[in-house]
Amino acid sequence: MAYCEWTKRLGQRHYYDTNNASVTLCGKPMLGNNYSAHIQDSEKQDCPECEKVIDELNDFDNQPSVIKDEMLSLIAEVAERVDQAEKNAHDTLNDLRIAKYRLHRLQYILGKT
Ligand SMILES: [Zn+2]
Repeated sequence: MAYCEWTKRLGQRHYYDTNNASVTLCGKPMLGNNYSAHIQDSEKQDCPECEKVIDELNDFDNQPSVIKDEMLSLIAEVAERVDQAEKNAHDTLNDLRIAKYRLHRLQYILGKT
């Protein structure tokens, strides 16, 4: 992943993915102008969150390809499990709504006798 500097007017230095120039690596929206060329490096303060993301990206890039493949396959597996859990939660919610409806009907019938 390629990333570039995004410096805010008061000198906070963030970074952003050049394929996604709407949000910084730490998740801040990129509003206003980029002051990276107008503020001296010595006047800038590094964003610790962006630095952390860059460290993690570098760590990942430095891994042997077998490790990278393993990590990517784990990420895909986790994403699939989250999708499945969302579907199960949705089905469970539907079952509970039907049960609640039946209970209300029963309550109504019992109340009438
Ligand atoms: Zn940042």
